[in-house]
Amino acid sequence: MQEGFLGEIDRKAWAGSSQSASGEIFPDKVRIQCPSCGSMAVFHTNALSHKRTDMLAVCRSGCPGCQNLVSFCGFYPSDTSKQSPQEPSLIVYHCEHGHAHNAKQFGDEVPERLKRAFDSAVMAYNNQNYVAAMVMVRRSLEGIFKLRPSVQPGTKNLVNLIQEASDGSDMSGQLERLAHAIRDGGNLAAHFDLETDPDRMTAQYLVELVEYLIEYFFVLPTHIEKLEGLLDKARPVGASPSE
Ligand SMILES: [Zn+2]
Repeated sequence: MQEGFLGEIDRKAWAGSSQSASGEIFPDKVRIQCPSCGSMAVFHTNALSHKRTDMLAVCRSGCPGCQNLVSFCGFYPSDTSKQSPQEPSLIVYHCEHGHAHNAKQFGDEVPERLKRAFDSAVMAYNNQNYVAAMVMVRRSLEGIFKLRPSVQPGTKNLVNLIQEASDGSDMSGQLERLAHAIRDGGNLAAHFDLETDPDRMTAQYLVELVEYLIEYFFVLPTHIEKLEGLLDKARPVGASPSE
């Protein structure tokens, strides 16, 4: 897995700009999602007063949220018939700590309580609090199995809830393995000690996989239903689905 994050600055992310004596233009600030913590942040980019040639301008700027440094680099066209002022043809940014999880925005098909638990897991992960992320992942997992559409009423612990989904037709063996692995990960975090401090990689897998389970149990059935509705409408009158 590649360490760090590399991205491109869109022109729309600029907030104000300055021009050097030789004509190069660079944004004063850019508003982007911090590649380290994942929150929207304004980075001060004073590349022109900092380091530059007529082909390149570079600077580093700290995220106001997580304080991690992000480096910015603007490239200027190298043709000699330069007309002033000149905007960079490309600005890229890079962050060594760039592991922010860009979470899916779930709609009404996912219960509010589950969405809040999952958002908390992502926020904790993006703030590099992997213990908290794994605890919230476990809570999300509980939410999935308690709130899934075909759950039977009654108080049950997570193991029983997973078993119930597995006994019914809602879940294959692979998914049952996945659910138990996520549950184990959450347990590990809840009873963690300094010896077994969960690492980023484990937390990242857990966040991604619980997101996958939310999609499987809540988003996929809604999409299948919509598709079936469309196919029903398109079917000639009197024809049955099995023909
Ligand atoms: Zn940040």
